[in-house]
Amino acid sequence: MSQASPSSFPNGVRTRFAPSPTGYLHLGGARTALFAWAFARHHRGTFILRIEDTDVERSTPEAVQAILDGMQWLDLGHDEGPFYQMQRMPRYREVVARMLAEGKAYHCYASPVELDAMREAQRARGEKPRYDGRWRPEPGKQLPNPPEGINPVVRFRNPLDGEVSWNDLVKGPITISNQEMDDLIIARADGTPTYNFCVCVDDHDMAITHVIRGDDHVNNTPRQINILRALGAELPTYGHVPMILGPDGEKLSKRHGAVSVMQYAEDGYLPEAMINYLARLGWSHGDDELFTREQLIEWFDVDHLTKSAAQWDPKKLAWVNNHYIKLADNQRLADLVRPRIVAIYGSIESGPPLDQVVALMKDRCETLVQLAEASLLFYHPYQVDAALKAEHISETIKPVLQDFAAQAEAIEWKRESIQALIKSVLAKHGLKMPQLAVPLRVLVTGRTQTPSVDAVLELFGRDVVLERVRSA
Ligand code: GLU
Repeated sequence: MSQASPSSFPNGVRTRFAPSPTGYLHLGGARTALFAWAFARHHRGTFILRIEDTDVERSTPEAVQAILDGMQWLDLGHDEGPFYQMQRMPRYREVVARMLAEGKAYHCYASPVELDAMREAQRARGEKPRYDGRWRPEPGKQLPNPPEGINPVVRFRNPLDGEVSWNDLVKGPITISNQEMDDLIIARADGTPTYNFCVCVDDHDMAITHVIRGDDHVNNTPRQINILRALGAELPTYGHVPMILGPDGEKLSKRHGAVSVMQYAEDGYLPEAMINYLARLGWSHGDDELFTREQLIEWFDVDHLTKSAAQWDPKKLAWVNNHYIKLADNQRLADLVRPRIVAIYGSIESGPPLDQVVALMKDRCETLVQLAEASLLFYHPYQVDAALKAEHISETIKPVLQDFAAQAEAIEWKRESIQALIKSVLAKHGLKMPQLAVPLRVLVTGRTQTPSVDAVLELFGRDVVLERVRSA
């Protein structure tokens, strides 16, 4: 299918993300949201957030908040909504009433016991269990008398013949025979509308042009198309995105580690890395692995959504995150890393400016957690282990260290001049780099391994360095 240009949608593209608030915003949901959002943004359309909270048993306010938080963290801003289905009940009832009045739906009084018996008999005959239409009005058909004291459900009059076809943006043409569908309950005996029905009323009322969702909904689509037709709605275009598999090829689940988007925030991933990585899970733009949000919006199309399931690859995500950490503004990184250090040491008053520290450390870090850990070097309470000192600060190196300290008073306190001084002290005393660099590290940081010693000394500042070196 060819990519539609913005002008192909005279009233503008309108997409929605319609999560059910029954847990956190998981990776699959976030990716669906991202695709629907990117498609709307690409076409300068409208992105709608709809909370499908009619499953009152499983929906929670915390889960709603988790969705809003996740969307905000990823910066997938919506233009309309959030709409809550529970707040639209009067509208659904109104549509049910209209469909009843128009003969597009009907009351069914069959009791659960009766329906069980019906299905049992069907199975015994080797048939697929389905509602047999016993309360479905037909011209010339005599319906049973409604039993006393029973509230009926409302069923949709699904077409008996013909088929439902749509050209799925991802899966291509799909056709389902109407004979495979029975008359769906659209309102329960207590009057509450059912899931598929609410989705249809909403997609219609919200004038959705493109339904982009997980392919676990593919089976709902023919039913929804029939209901939408009965509502006189213009049909949206559907695109069903394959699920995400874990690295082992099984459906992605908790077993594979974090599946909540906010857990990745917690674990130190940057939202732009997450967006970039999620976009590549099931969509491609040539060989491009790294792209900006602007490029994603410019490039996003449905032609390059992949038909096959995408596989979650934590190593690649870490690589993408490292790329964005390297690119990120140091002050921003410092603000993100500071609370992580404070959480460990209680405060971060002393020590060099954190933005300079992260600038030095960030290149090799895959997450903010690693960046915080690497930065601890500059903030941990100063203490040199006696054994470490005994091992590395020999009597022969002490005068060399003092010589270094004496000369260090006079140089410009910059990485380059510190390095030049170290080299000249080494030359003067006939030593090799590690013979001085390791004792300096031990005395100044309490550790034998740090990034480049000149950079570390620069960041600690001359006063701290001289004081610690002279304590040898
Ligand atoms: N509420 C559904 C879900 O969370 C999505 C429905 C839809 O996109 O049509 O899976």
